[in-house]
Parts: sequence; structure tokens; C-alpha cells
Amino acid sequence: DDARLSQELLRMDGDSYGRYKSLKGDWDFGDFTLTVQRVQADPFAPPSRILVTIPDPGVPESAWGDPVRRRATADFLGRRAGRLLRRSLLRVDTGGQEVIERSSCRITDGGGVELRIGIDLPGRGRRIDGRAAERELCATLPGLVDDLDWDEIDRDAAAAFADSVVDTVALRSRLADLGLVAFVADGAILPRRSGVADEPLTEGAVPFASPADLRVTVDLPHRGTVTGMGVPEGITLIVGGGFHGKSTLLHALERGVHDHVPGDGRELVVARADAVKIRAEEGRRVERVDVGSFVRDLPTGADTADFRTDNASGSTSQAANICEALEAGSRTLLVDEDSTATNLMIRDERMQALVHGDREPLTPFVDLIRPLYRDHGVSTVLVMGGSGDYFDVADHVIMMDAYHPHDVTERARKLSRDRIDAVFTAPRDRVIDPASVDGTDARGRGRIKRRDMDVLVFGDDDIDVRSIEQFVDPGQIVGAGLALRALVRDGHLDGRRTLAEALDSLESALAEHGIIHVGADFGGDHALPRRQEVAAVLNRLRSLKVTEQRPRRG
Ligand code: ADP
Ligand code: MG
Repeated sequence: DDARLSQELLRMDGDSYGRYKSLKGDWDFGDFTLTVQRVQADPFAPPSRILVTIPDPGVPESAWGDPVRRRATADFLGRRAGRLLRRSLLRVDTGGQEVIERSSCRITDGGGVELRIGIDLPGRGRRIDGRAAERELCATLPGLVDDLDWDEIDRDAAAAFADSVVDTVALRSRLADLGLVAFVADGAILPRRSGVADEPLTEGAVPFASPADLRVTVDLPHRGTVTGMGVPEGITLIVGGGFHGKSTLLHALERGVHDHVPGDGRELVVARADAVKIRAEEGRRVERVDVGSFVRDLPTGADTADFRTDNASGSTSQAANICEALEAGSRTLLVDEDSTATNLMIRDERMQALVHGDREPLTPFVDLIRPLYRDHGVSTVLVMGGSGDYFDVADHVIMMDAYHPHDVTERARKLSRDRIDAVFTAPRDRVIDPASVDGTDARGRGRIKRRDMDVLVFGDDDIDVRSIEQFVDPGQIVGAGLALRALVRDGHLDGRRTLAEALDSLESALAEHGIIHVGADFGGDHALPRRQEVAAVLNRLRSLKVTEQRPRRG
């Protein structure tokens, strides 16, 4: 077949661009199969898509038998492919600093490798450039397949890459037993090169050094014994002067739900897998969320236990974000004063004296944070440099001083006052109308795509995802769109189950079959999102309809 494809492409040279469509289908190259899945209509359309199936690249089972290793080895191979193809027209989605299961490079059950590649099929104007296409598909591509053969791989580097990811996963899985919500290893590099570059800061980065009182020692399968700062369950406050590294630490914890590539500096910075960054998000839509613990007696008379708005305020959006995170199964909240609604966070004595309790609909987070932990097992890590009110409720206080953490819990306790907690009632569960989650456009065609890191287009809806800060990869945004489609298509959302139950069901399907389970027919790169981000996208869908609220079980 490879000779046939080569002749075909050379013969097409100079023909009208549309003739590329005739390439669709399988081409057998002997040691791999090239499947042309989708062909662009013209040179300016999104790239064409090809699937390369290599049944036996010689990857030993030791490198893929275990699911974590399989993800890591696939990621390693995908990055190698990306480097090798840098000067070609072929594009492999290699991701950024995180190691996430993605569609671009997968290892199958038998140890085969699948690559999903984009290619801008070359043209001269609207004519086919057959010679360039022949070079890409019949020379570059077979060369790539040769270079991905296990005999050609730096096996030590591949093993070290996978070992590192295995250690990260082991570390994260130990957190619960250790009574921690997060861990930051000594020597970790937290700051990034810039606000838009996720690589480690190289010049002047101060490596992390744990304070003695919070130091924890952990044994890992490959690195052996490591030490670092354990962030305990409960309420942890991060304080310190402006520019001393508070947000950088919290940001590293947010990213700690994912595994990082060796050399990133955050390989051993982990948070509980369910940790959710909470922020205010003025203007978002809220669909029948029970925010009653935070908001009561609005001047409009609206029922805040069944709260709906097309235009939430800073405080109500943040309250909804917390309640939705709990509904999606999170028991770890990460909060930074830089992105919160002040009136939901604190209300000082003078303001209470001026605006009497019965005129204030909001119960501030500071009065709910303890009952959240005590009665519901929800821990919070909170950056707060601007108010001492949280001293009253914190179990631990970490002060960042010139990028060095210090345990100042005792000093903060001496400054604390008695505080009377409010009551936190678990928000009611919601049942979603599956028909309101429709990924098709007016003409009934499936439509899932992404605009930068800002918008997920889902059917006729533009979902604003800018405030979903734990999306770390463009592919995850598309992956979340595909997961929404799967929620309905595969019956996880059936109009009877609660959203939480539907997410359980989706999550086990994804764990069993992988991201490809939701995107097999989709011609584009996608990566695995967490259930928390899938829920976050669903909650921002402007067409979403909740049919019923139910009291939370358990
Ligand atoms: P804060 O939230 O306390 O105001 P940030 O976390 O925003 O401070 O950090 C301020 C600046 O310091 C940022 O530019 C950040 O990249 C840099 N920074 C943070 N941690 C370190 C570190 N460990 N070493 C060097 N620079 C750092
Ligand atoms: Mg800050």
C-alpha cells in the first residue's frame, strides 16, 4: 500500500484540492497502518486528521502493564514524536508540563501504539502539492514510526520518566492516610517563568524548604525517602506580605492534582485529586443551586436554597462555586484572596455594627469554614494576607516570608478571638434534564470545539471557561465537551440520577475505557478532564435545566 499511496499522491499533484478527499481510509504500510480519518476542505480549514496504528513497536509490558506507567510511557513517546516532527507538517499534541492521558498518543492493551496526528495537507493555492504530501506521508511518517520503535528509544530516560510519574501518583495516594490535603517536597521549584509560560523559573528561583513543624517524611517507590511540607486536613491559612510567594504556593497546590514531567520542579508537589480552586465569578449563570448556607433573605425574596440567576454577583457566584464543588465530590477547597468576593469572605465588627445582621443576606465564609470541616469533612487552604479574622478559625497558619514558609500557628492563635460559627447545611443534590445538555447545533450536527483557553463551544452554547482555573491543557477543555456529550449519549444523565451519581458513572466508564471512550469518533485532539472540570463546564452551560432538587444523602 505504501507504494500505492506514494504513486497516488504524485499523480494528484496539481489537481484541485478537493481531490485529497479520495485518500480517506486505510493504507497498510506493513509495520503500521495509516488511516486518513478526515480531510480538510481547503488549505485554510483546520488540519486533516490521520491515525497511525503501530501494532508491535516492541514496548515491553513492564513499560505499559500498569495503568500509570502506560499513561507515562505514552506521554513520553508522544513528546518524542512531537520533537521529531517539529520541522514537518505533521502535528502531535504533546501537552504542556502535565502528564495527562490524551488522544494523541496511546498504548493499547496489546502494547501497540496509536498516534492521532493533524496534518495541514500541502497545497499551492487551491491545488494539491502532491510531492510535499508524498514526502510527509510516505517518508517522514515511516521515519517517525522507525524512530518510535523501542530499540531506538533511550530506555533509561523512558523508565526515569515513568518512575517519576509513578512516584507522584504514589505520593498523592498517600495523602489521605497521612491526614494531609497536600504535600510540597523540599527542593521543589514553584514559581513559573512568567504568567503565560508554565516552565519553571530558572533564574533566582528559591527552592522550597519546609518548616520543621510541618515537615513530613514519605517513602516513595523509586525516589525512596523524601521530605517536605505536609498541609494537614482542616483549615490552613497562608499569610505573608505582598509579593512573598503566597499565590505561587497556592497555585502549585491547584496544579498538584496533576502529575508533572521530570524537570518541572513540581514533580513532588501534590494535592488531593478532588481539590478545587474556588473563586468569585461575577456574571456567571447559576441553575437551581442550593446556596442557602451562604445567602438568605435576598431583597428580591428569591429562594436561595433553589437559587437561579443569569447574572450572579461576585459573592453569589463564589457561593455557587463552593456548593457545586461539593456536589461534584470535592472535599478540598483552595481559595486565594486575590480572586474572591470580599463580602463573602469577611465582615468585620464595625460593618456588623453599621449593617445589622437581619439586613445582610450573606453569611461570610469565615463563619462556615469550621462547620464545613467539622460536620462535612471539607478542608480549606486559604491565602489571606489582608485580614486577621481567619486566625480565629485556622488549624494551621503558614507565613510566606521571602518565599520561605514558616509555621506561625502559635503566634496567630495568640491573636485570635472567640467566634461563633454559623451552620453549614449540605447543599441539595440536583437532577439534570438530559435534553438541556445538547451538543448539536440548530441543524442537528454535533459541534464541540474550543476557542483558545476561553470558550468551549458546545452545540449552540458558548461556555465561558476562563474561570475554571484548573483546566491546565487545551485538550482537557475539548475532553470536557466530549464528556458532556457522553454524559447524555451514554445514559449517565438519565433524568432520574442526580448529577453526582451521573458523574460517578461517567468517571468509572472513563477509568475503564480511557478518554478515547468519549472521543473515538471525534476528529481532534483531546485530553482527560477531571470530573470536577466536567461538572464545572456543565454548570456554566446557559441552557442547563435542573428538574429536581433532592436532599443530600450521607
Ligand atoms: P503574593 O501572592 O504573596 O503577593 P506571589 O505568589 O504572587 O506573591 O509572588 C510574587 C512574585 O514572586 C511572582 O512574580 C512569583 O513568580 C515570584 N516568586 C514566588 N515564589 C518564588 C520563589 N520561590 N522564588 C523566586 N520567585 C518567586
Ligand atoms: Mg497573591
